[in-house]
Amino acid sequence: MARTRFAPSPTGWLHLGHAASALYASRRGEMVLRIEDIDRSRCRAEFETGIYEDLAWLGITFPTPVVRQSERWAEYECALSRLSEEGLLFPCFCTRADIKREVEGAGVAPHGPDGPVYPGTCRSLSSQERSERMAAGEAYALRLDMAESVRRFASLLWHDDVRGEQRAVPELFGDVVLARKDTPASYHLCVTVDDAAQEIGLVTRGEDLFEATHVHRLLQAVLGLPTPGYSHHRLLTGEDGKKLSKRDGAATLRAMRESGVSAAEVRAMVEVEGRRSKE
Ligand code: GLU
Repeated sequence: MARTRFAPSPTGWLHLGHAASALYASRRGEMVLRIEDIDRSRCRAEFETGIYEDLAWLGITFPTPVVRQSERWAEYECALSRLSEEGLLFPCFCTRADIKREVEGAGVAPHGPDGPVYPGTCRSLSSQERSERMAAGEAYALRLDMAESVRRFASLLWHDDVRGEQRAVPELFGDVVLARKDTPASYHLCVTVDDAAQEIGLVTRGEDLFEATHVHRLLQAVLGLPTPGYSHHRLLTGEDGKKLSKRDGAATLRAMRESGVSAAEVRAMVEVEGRRSKE
């Protein structure tokens, strides 16, 4: 059986959508749990404890010790050095406001899965200007030179067991951020490195992250990592038809438990909801 993973971020209490995702991962293979806690400003210890409590309550087991991304900065740093040695990273000093201004000024700016595509402002800075601005202590993010990466690694494929064979189109995202000004690594980088390190054979996650896989496939190629299979499941939706989210206080598993709902009932609800969302 393939190894699968459930990779929540401890930025809120788990809700029904997470229960569906964790059950999906545990049904498709041997599930490992990974705590995606790189965004230190949004993660809280109590939410991490909540993840363990909710999974135990649902009867979902996983091997220990659990991998926590906040303990893996050295591995991410190593991947970034490799990309830098390949000449595929560049420092970006732009603020959000700079990017917004540039994008608005451009009239028709391409839109990617994460919003407007970065207009490439810092890609062409001279190495002298880069060094001077870094030496002056200006904050910068590290971005992937997408055009050059795609030129070197063209025609990549990956397989989604729901939608079939896919040709990777990471260029949809433009020069993605791989290390942030305030966090030394980004989601795309950490997930790619960790799925390989944990020998995940089948990446199970919601279909809201379907497009992100194009970027992960490219990073695998550049970093010489294996490509797992993928299974992007439908998302549970609320009454309004929108994806359940922590932000709008979608019924948390914790609140349901406290109000007397049983784990078996939650499992049954997720099955029913899962079927409804496919209709
Ligand atoms: N940590 C992400 C989340 O909580 C999931 C990332 C993934 O499954 O690749 O939405």
